[in-house]
Amino acid sequence: MSAPLNTTCRTCGRPLPEGIKTPTFPFCSKRCKMIDLGRWFTGEHRISEPLILENKDNPPESRNDPE
Ligand SMILES: [Zn+2]
Repeated sequence: MSAPLNTTCRTCGRPLPEGIKTPTFPFCSKRCKMIDLGRWFTGEHRISEPLILENKDNPPESRNDPE
């Protein structure tokens, strides 16, 4: 009779691997967490890439924009 906590991913709806103990609760994975965050940022549902800023050596000199 005890109502179980919502242990399903808020993004994909899959059951969390470790329930409420899931590190990424209430998401099944970090990916789903980022997807949910992306929805908030973009206000849309189309999420194709996670928000990852690559901090590689990319000097602006190499970007030669003709305009
Ligand atoms: Zn998920």
